Amino acid sequence: MTISDNLQTIGQIIRRAEQKYQRPPQSVQLLAVSKRHDENAIQAALAAGQYAFGENYAQEMLNKAELLAAEHVDWHFIGPLQSNKTRQIAATALWVHTVDRLKIAKRLSEQKPEQRPAINICLQVNISGEASKSGIEPQALPELAAQIAELPGLNLRGLMAIPAVSEVFTQQREVFAKLRELQEDLIKGGLPLDTLSMGMSGDMEAAIAEGATMVRIGTAIFGQRAQ
Ligand SMILES: *Cc1c(COP(=O)(O)O)cnc(C)c1O
Repeated sequence: MTISDNLQTIGQIIRRAEQKYQRPPQSVQLLAVSKRHDENAIQAALAAGQYAFGENYAQEMLNKAELLAAEHVDWHFIGPLQSNKTRQIAATALWVHTVDRLKIAKRLSEQKPEQRPAINICLQVNISGEASKSGIEPQALPELAAQIAELPGLNLRGLMAIPAVSEVFTQQREVFAKLRELQEDLIKGGLPLDTLSMGMSGDMEAAIAEGATMVRIGTAIFGQRAQ
């Protein structure tokens, strides 16, 4: 299977899941997670019409953005955020999915080059309640969201989560439903959010069933990653 074949297959899975769960057609976007695959893999996906790519290391995203400067690529940063990397990220990323602290959000807002559009932001929520995972705790979310919504260089779009791995469809759905409910509460509180970044290769159908608007798919498009 080529990258182009895989993209076509994933596209079909997404469109079928939209139908099955009564989601509007084309309401789920595909983010191709290209981390640890080289620029040739990205070129192959670009040639197949995929233009949104997710990376989780700032330097790797920057290197690829330079190599592919002649192409139209929307870069999404989906990795752990460190203060000393925010400048690189603010210069490159159209989206950042993993904001969970005000300090990091302020740096992104301040460091964004003036000529670039406001950075689209998702707040990462620690939805499975594991001590080891990053993401803000649900009870602290409303305050952080309100603060970040005020920052001029950012455009707060929604929520993101990486749940604990489960093979059980109903369990997968339950966790994604929690994220959707948190988002609904924020919307009721007056924030105009439109993005739920949830679902990976192993749980995208459950995520779509619960309202994902962006699924982040790596392995099912590009194959196994080098460790
Ligand atoms: C790697 C990664 C993905 C993609 O995972 P696959 O299982 O390869 O589809 C999605 N989201 C995040 C945050 C990741 O780091």
